[in-house]
Amino acid sequence: MAEDKNAVGVAVLGLGNVGSEVVRIIEEDAEDLAARIGAPLQLRGIGVRRVAADRGVPVELLTDDIDALVARDDVDIVVELMGPVEPARKAILAALENGKSVVTANKALLAQSTGKLAEAAEKARVDLYFEAAVAGAIPVIRPLTQSLAGDTVLRVAGIVNGTTNYILSAMNDTGADYESALADASALGYAEADPTADVEGHDAAAKAAILASIAFHTRVTADDVYCEGITKVTAEDFESAKALGCTIKLLAICERLTTDKGKQRVSARVYPALVPLDHPLASVGGAFNAVVVEAEAAGRLMFYGQGAGGAPTASAVLGDLVMAARNRVQGGRGPRESKYAKLPIAPIGMIPTRYYVSLYVSDKPGVLSSVAAEFAKREVSIAEVRQEGVVNEGGERVGARIAVLTHRATDEALSKTITALEGHDAVSSVASVLRMEGAGE
Ligand code: NAP
Repeated sequence: MAEDKNAVGVAVLGLGNVGSEVVRIIEEDAEDLAARIGAPLQLRGIGVRRVAADRGVPVELLTDDIDALVARDDVDIVVELMGPVEPARKAILAALENGKSVVTANKALLAQSTGKLAEAAEKARVDLYFEAAVAGAIPVIRPLTQSLAGDTVLRVAGIVNGTTNYILSAMNDTGADYESALADASALGYAEADPTADVEGHDAAAKAAILASIAFHTRVTADDVYCEGITKVTAEDFESAKALGCTIKLLAICERLTTDKGKQRVSARVYPALVPLDHPLASVGGAFNAVVVEAEAAGRLMFYGQGAGGAPTASAVLGDLVMAARNRVQGGRGPRESKYAKLPIAPIGMIPTRYYVSLYVSDKPGVLSSVAAEFAKREVSIAEVRQEGVVNEGGERVGARIAVLTHRATDEALSKTITALEGHDAVSSVASVLRMEGAGE
């Protein structure tokens, strides 16, 4: 493209899954983008590790000198698509300090450093946009920061990690155990070579921190998010879920809580939960993502779509890029970080939820009532209980399994009950403890 002195200069850092799609769209849709922005976008450079002629872009655009690229006078907007936390943090901070607006998809970084990055953007009076950092193509950051800016968000709950949703959907649909569902997901490219960040819930926790921060006008970091992954979910848990009319999903839940004393707090948590089949998140299958937002006046809103992948994520990045470029051309800035509410974080012990608990016990008279007594002592009220015999390979009855569904109880009360049950003479093991989403009191 010929040099245009009105052009908005763009540097893209990263030419991987997302970066290569972003570069492609900037080039292929140049005319439309220019018409929407009011000036053309001009790609000034692309930051990579490997500078080579075989990368599908003019080699003169490529550089491994990120520091120099983000400091160039003819760059107005830096699009960071390198990940992970470093070197992205250093590059973004340098870009902001150099007066460039920044668009990033880097959830791991944002969940750690929102404060510092937002402060640098504020100081330089530039934009910092990150729609692609949560749920890929799905617009959820902009609805929360702009469309719902006049409402009070009460809750944001979603499936924000496609890898774990793919694994859990396969376990639900085929009866597979966790290990074989993970192996299939890896073979089909739905899980990375090292799936730890996904299956341990860290990726979802980073997204929960970002969602909670913007929904509740409070800085929430990944360290504030209670996090359990899916590695302990069993095929037997899915059988139990089915018997209860549920499936199991890894949920990221951000909630505004009002305590007994009328004080407001924020809870952000990630864990596998039983989801009733009539809940809108139950039917979100495979690698798809969905986020349900509940706001005081708007009621319930649902956002659904592709949560990852080069092109879908690039769509969200381009949306941010067009916004940031328009602001450059027309003057002004988009919404900045809003943290005025400064709500304290609620510890997981305070959170009231319904629970499903499955236990193996000895098959003796009175066991069921003594187990029930442990729940009652800690004010965990039982809604439903089922007991079935356990037989060995020879058909001989060797014990029993008790499955309990509770009414709402705090995590603290439930944890104390589980500790007591684990030390109970008649309990041979606590097989599983799962929280239940929605589904009344
Ligand atoms: P990727 O395919 O691994 O690409 C990373 C790119 O960054 C590569 O082009 C790499 O250069 C470049 N890079 C890495 N370290 C660098 C360094 N030190 N100096 C210069 N260049 C460096 O990653 P991706 O999947 O596109 O993801 C990019 C970002 O988007 C990450 O923050 C990710 O979390 C986020 N994101 C991704 C998705 C998705 O579906 N992939 C969805 C949402 C958000 P070389 O090519 O030379 O190695």
